Amino acid sequence: MIPLAEAQQYVLSKCTPLGAQDMPSFDALGLITAEPIESTEHIPPFDNTAVDGYAVIAADTTDAPVTLTVAGSIAAGEGPDVEVTPGTAVRIMTGAPMPPGADAVVMVENTEQPDRDPSEPEKVRIVQGVGPGTAVRRAGEDMQPDQTVFESGTLLQPGHIGVLATLGITSIKAHRRPVVGVISTGDELVEGPQPLAPGQIRDSNRHTLLALVTQAGCEAVDLGLIRDDEDAVEAALRSGAASCDALITSGGVSMGDFDFVKMVLKRIADMRWMQIAIKPAKPMAFGTLDGTPIFGLPGNPVSSMVSFELFARPGLRLMRGLAIEDAHRPRVMGTADEALRRGPDGKTHFARVEVRWQDGQAFFRSAGGQGSHQLSAMAAAQGLAVLPDGPGVDAGDQAELLLLHGW
Ligand code: AMP
Ligand code: MG
Repeated sequence: MIPLAEAQQYVLSKCTPLGAQDMPSFDALGLITAEPIESTEHIPPFDNTAVDGYAVIAADTTDAPVTLTVAGSIAAGEGPDVEVTPGTAVRIMTGAPMPPGADAVVMVENTEQPDRDPSEPEKVRIVQGVGPGTAVRRAGEDMQPDQTVFESGTLLQPGHIGVLATLGITSIKAHRRPVVGVISTGDELVEGPQPLAPGQIRDSNRHTLLALVTQAGCEAVDLGLIRDDEDAVEAALRSGAASCDALITSGGVSMGDFDFVKMVLKRIADMRWMQIAIKPAKPMAFGTLDGTPIFGLPGNPVSSMVSFELFARPGLRLMRGLAIEDAHRPRVMGTADEALRRGPDGKTHFARVEVRWQDGQAFFRSAGGQGSHQLSAMAAAQGLAVLPDGPGVDAGDQAELLLLHGW
């Protein structure tokens, strides 16, 4: 058996970012930029008001309460075509450009409408004075021309999409989203609602893995359920490798297994067959077929998911262009709500746990049956508790938690 870190390092060393291409900004959520994004403009583009109120000369309000003459009004979207001169104010709506002459805005809540004789010019009573710059949003306060707004290698989140829209940038260079094919093989596997014949089970791994691939920010391609037939397996692997950026198989990678996936991959691909000191997911194969990375995950449903979390997800994230520090799921320390027992066996165990948060602290308890075939507990788990070789943890003990479920 080899340590987990060694196996991860081997796999991740072979997963490199895909090439960059021009992408429409509004389809770029979850992509990673392949060049810095530069601002070409001042954002905000002009000085404007942060509140609804009256644009004034701040010095006019020092002795508030004071009464000023209303010289006009400016709505958002209008040009600032009224001037503020000493003794006057301009009614102004949030986002409207500051009129020439004004250097502050009094919010409407701090003003009153004096009783008005309709023959007189409109007045406003400033109840509370303001200093220069109050409630003014300066041009360029957010972004400036020639500023690098975000670096190459940025994972584009909703806010970034908004920044691109603000700057009028409609296309960006980003790493291509990996297209990842998922294959199941096995004559025991069937699909659909029909009753199972003796010895049959339904193919769950392919659907779990397709969902995990999607959640890992990649484009998942269903390459189907292939019969245990050497030619069919070879054809599926070859056409998958030709059309996808990476392939994921499950099953047939354990010691002494005589599965067709293993037989074919041994012959046509450059694979490393590993036994890793972890439970579940001890066996794992990784390699390339015509340059396409292949993750050969174990067949037991929980093992295939844990193996995906520890190897395939980080590898696919590197292919998306993320940095190695961002490849893995976050880990936090948590406290056991109840004992989680295990025996010494030279392996690190990844227990499926429910995670409860209280006052910013994580607590965990078993999510159910811990067998590698017990998918329901894996489905219910919000985390994997890392239990080092030994007796496990008692209630109140600390353990590292790998947090699942985030996109
Ligand atoms: P294997 O590694 O092929 O020996 O498979 C180990 C276990 O996982 C066996 O019980 C298989 O039936 C099961 N298994 C393999 N592939 C799948 C799959 N796609 N869906 C559900 N179970 C599977
Ligand atoms: Mg099998």
